[in-house]
Amino acid sequence: MTNAATGPLVLVIEDEPAIRKFLRASLLAHGYRLNEAETGKQGLILAAQQPPELVILDLGLPDIDGLDVTRELRAWTNVPILVLSARGQEGDKVAALDAGADDYLTKPFSVVELAARLRVALRHVARTKAGSGESVFTVGELKVDLGKRLVTKRGETVHLTPTEYRLLTTLVQHAGRVLTHQMILKEVWGPSDANEIQYLRVYMAQLRQKLEDDPAQPRYLTTEPGVGYRLAAE
Ligand code: CA
Repeated sequence: MTNAATGPLVLVIEDEPAIRKFLRASLLAHGYRLNEAETGKQGLILAAQQPPELVILDLGLPDIDGLDVTRELRAWTNVPILVLSARGQEGDKVAALDAGADDYLTKPFSVVELAARLRVALRHVARTKAGSGESVFTVGELKVDLGKRLVTKRGETVHLTPTEYRLLTTLVQHAGRVLTHQMILKEVWGPSDANEIQYLRVYMAQLRQKLEDDPAQPRYLTTEPGVGYRLAAE
């Protein structure tokens, strides 16, 4: 059998046949190539035999915990890992992200959500490979010029405090991807303050006041309930 698809190779590690079927149809329709594993052990073997460009990993597997699969993969590869979790498993998602997973989808998810997450994960890899990436980040009416340390909205300069700016640039560096509270705190305030989620809430509220049209309905800086924050990339 010849496989006409030439897109990135995605490894799906998921024990539920219905979800695998849904992923297979969606991925093939978007031109991705695909390997499938039903267990964590099988997934780790396949990943080593034929290194994928992206891994979609269910957190609830019958043999090894998805979190352990994440750790084992991270021991030797930087491949983007997108974890799948059931609603209400916020703690599991956070643990997987802190263990090195790149993003997550909560079941049930749509083809559109899946495609968007894959695009962001693969774009991030391309950017990392190319070096430090673009120095100007634009989304909607918001522009962050990292070289000039200049933030504008609709062409007008937005004045940020040093901490607000550091928080924003941390999100810009991972635009489109979720960042856990821990990750943001560690990068912006340093490891000693990694538990001060209250700081983060205060600064995020300030940043929204300055950047959003309606801070109560943010378009750029969105909250991932129980997990962290995400800066819109498109
Ligand atoms: Ca499962």
